[in-house]
Order: sequence, then C-alpha cells, then structure tokens
Amino acid sequence: MLKKTGIAALADFLGSKASNNTSYKRMTIPSWEINENEYLLIHNVQIVDVKLGKIRRENGLLVKNQRIEALVMKSELNQVRNNFHIKKEIDGGNKYIIPGMSDIHAHLTLISEFDFKIKNLRYFDNQREKNCEEAIKHGCTFVKDSGGAARVIDYLKEEIKQNRLIGPRIMAAKEVVSPKGGMWDLGLANHFSSVIFGGRLLNFPANRKQLEKVLDRTIDLGCDFIKIYLEDKPLYGGKESDVYTMFSSEEIDIIKHKAAGASKMVEAHSMFIKGSRRAIEAGLDMIAHITVDEPYTDEDARKMKAGNVSIVPTLSLGCYLAMNMGDKGFPYHQDFLFFQEMLKQYIPNMIDESVIPELKGSYCKFYDWIIEEILERRMPQIGKVYPERVHGFAKNARESIQNLMNHGVKIGIGTDGGTGITFTGNLQVEFEAFHHFGFTPVEILRMATLGNMEILHLEKDMGSIEIGKFADLVILEDNPLSNIHAISKINCVIKGGQPQIFYTKS
Ligand SMILES: [Zn+2]
Repeated sequence: MLKKTGIAALADFLGSKASNNTSYKRMTIPSWEINENEYLLIHNVQIVDVKLGKIRRENGLLVKNQRIEALVMKSELNQVRNNFHIKKEIDGGNKYIIPGMSDIHAHLTLISEFDFKIKNLRYFDNQREKNCEEAIKHGCTFVKDSGGAARVIDYLKEEIKQNRLIGPRIMAAKEVVSPKGGMWDLGLANHFSSVIFGGRLLNFPANRKQLEKVLDRTIDLGCDFIKIYLEDKPLYGGKESDVYTMFSSEEIDIIKHKAAGASKMVEAHSMFIKGSRRAIEAGLDMIAHITVDEPYTDEDARKMKAGNVSIVPTLSLGCYLAMNMGDKGFPYHQDFLFFQEMLKQYIPNMIDESVIPELKGSYCKFYDWIIEEILERRMPQIGKVYPERVHGFAKNARESIQNLMNHGVKIGIGTDGGTGITFTGNLQVEFEAFHHFGFTPVEILRMATLGNMEILHLEKDMGSIEIGKFADLVILEDNPLSNIHAISKINCVIKGGQPQIFYTKS
C-alpha cells in the first residue's frame, strides 16, 4: 500500500482508526505470456481508420513487442501464420477495432469530498485504484492527469507499469500552480487539502522568486507538463464580488520559459474569458474548460488558431453544473436542459458502476443535491454558489464551440474526471455533448483518439491504428463511425498488445 508523508500520513492514520481497515480488491489482469520476439495476431476485425473515417481493407493486425507491426489482408492470413512465430491469436468476431481512446483532462486521484467524513479517507486510495481500472474499462488507454499529489500519482503509475494494477498510460502534471490570492488559495485550509489529496497538490507562489522555485520543484518531481490556474472569479465560495489574483503576463512568460527549458507543455485552467485571453496572448499550449461569463469570440478563436493554442472544453462538467436553482441562473436555456438531461441519463449509472461501495453514498448525495431544487445553494466547506456562473457553462458552450470549430482550433476530449461527479475515461457524455453541439460521430471519434494525441504531440506513438504505433486497441460491438453510443459496448481492451479486459471471451 502507498505510504504517505506529513499531514497526508496523519490523514491515513485517522482514517484507519475511524473505519475498518479494508484494502481494495483489484481486478484480475488476464494472464498473457508472450515475449518480445513472439507475435500476437488479431484477425477477423473491421479496422477503423480514424483519420479517414472509414473501415480499412485489411482485416487483421500483427503485433510484436507492444507495437503494431503489420496490417494484414484476409487473403494473407495463412501466409502470415506460416512466416511468423505467432504465440497468440484473437478472433475479433468481425467486430470493430479502434485505437485506444484518451481522456486528456482528468484527475485520477481526486475523489468527491461532498459528504466529507474522516472514515472515508481510508477509502480514497481504493477509489483511486478503481479510477485507473475504470478508465481502461471504458476504452481509455491514455489519461492526461491535470493535477494530483506526486506520490499518489507515482504510486499508481508504478503499479500499472509493474502490471499489478489495470490502468491507462498516464501523463501527469502532479502539483499545480496558482498565484497567492489566486483560485483555491484558501489560507489556513490549504493545509487541509493535502489530507484530501494524499499530499501537496497546489502551490501558491507570492512573487517571482517563489514562482521560479515552485516551477523548478514541479519539474524535479517529474511532471510531464505544467498546469497553472488563470482564473478570474469563483463559481462558488467567497463573495460574488471577489476577483482572484491572476498571474501577470510577465509571470506567464517566466512559466513559459521554464516549461520550454524542460520541454514541457503548459496547460491553463480558465473558466472566465479574462484568463483565457491571457493564455491566448501568451500562446500557452492548452486551455482547460470553457468560459462561463462570455463565449469565446470569433477573434479569440482566430488568435488561438494562429498561436496554436488548443482547448479541452471538458463538457462533462456541464452535468455537474446543471444545478437546480429554481428560476435562478438560466434554467430554461436549451443547452442547460440538455446537460440536465445528460445528468439524469448517465450519472446515476456511472456512480453505480465506477464508485467503490464505501463511497457510493457520498456520491449519491452529491447527485441528489444537484437535482434537488435549492435556491440559496452552498457547496459544503466552500460556500455560496453563483447561479449565472454555473449555468453560464451551458449557456455559452454552443457559441464558443461554434467559433472554435469554425477557425479550426484543436479541440480535445477530456472529462475533468475526479472533480464533482465526473469519471475519468468515461467519455460517453463527451460524445453526446459534442454530438449535440454539431459534431459527427466520425469527428468525435477522431478527436478522442488521434486528435487528442496531436494536441499532446504524441501522435507518432498513439491515436490511430498504424504500423509502428502502440497496439493500444479497443474492440467494439457496433460501428463507432455511425453511432456515438458504440463506445459503450466494449468487447475487449488491449494496451501495448496485452489484453486488459475481455468482456466476452473470444
Ligand atoms: Zn481539472
């Protein structure tokens, strides 16, 4: 089990005193003896070309040493069997095979603390392990983790690497950076956050010198990219008139240069247009979320395209922000109603399948709280909810996305899993929402695979079924090129040529 330090270790101690000391029963990893010079042959599959949005003519895949070695025509099968030392075969039953999907904004280690109880802390590590398994179960073989305590993330990565835990490939920011007086700087309560996150998650540098120190430290921790906050105002908590301290353009330059020096990308969290524009002006690599106060304009989108700034809207957040506040906010807006519908249609089931039994009650309470009509709403431990801001997410989404799409801005798919009641790797709401906002199934599938990898400059290794790329693959029952629901009918998930889950033995 993961050993923690400092206040997080104290949390473990208190948690274990308050609950039964249970450990998590991990899913069994299918045994798969195949070594470096032996081959896996996957045959009788309809290979989905996500680039062209078509089914390929080939009908099989030859995999060696984690990567795709060849695409094979049906007529070549016997020849391939004769010429190569094939250790294993998977008959795909003429089903559809797609590249492993990805969730490029999520938090594998964050747990909903809505109904916070000390004894629940004991179970947070269990839920973290389950989050990794759930990502794979839903066809995501890659997750970009946009903030989580370094030790916790490192532990999960190592368990996955050692083949002891089923989980995705992980690219992680680890600790995140917000200015002193910026978002989530809660003063004394900052110390408490390490209890919930299993270690330090946030840093609040007060000046240039501290900022440089924090960035060096984050890079030393082995972050794969730098995550910063460029947030203007609260959605909840504090006072409605509060304005956060935001990194200045000069400070963003420091961040950019430090990151570039270590070959890291920079992602900025922004849900208000002021922060987004600062990120765009600075030419940061990625913006997370969409804006709640006003939409991205034509001009914003043009600049993003020119500066190669991509965005991961995390539309799944719309469900969590579809809070029922009676007549307050924008309860009659058609896109608010859409997210409210998504909330009811998907979230209870997600909680049921993706939350460990000990924490289910807390997640269900959260769901009930969102559904219930509460005019004067307060987030526990955080404070007052501002209706026009939380509903602004849905209200502005369509126009933002339309403008971004028109200018060809790279739009990524990520769930913000781990925050609120969103779940890492479960992309169904993302698929529904992008479809709702005018994208075709072909476009959405491309975004969730090759498009995401292009944003992260990882397309040489992942994102499509091509020779030389990792054999990260998902076999689906239905055709995902014509049906956005096909991704929920998974037959088999393969990572690096190794099956992780078989739903039906073939
Ligand atoms: Zn996030």
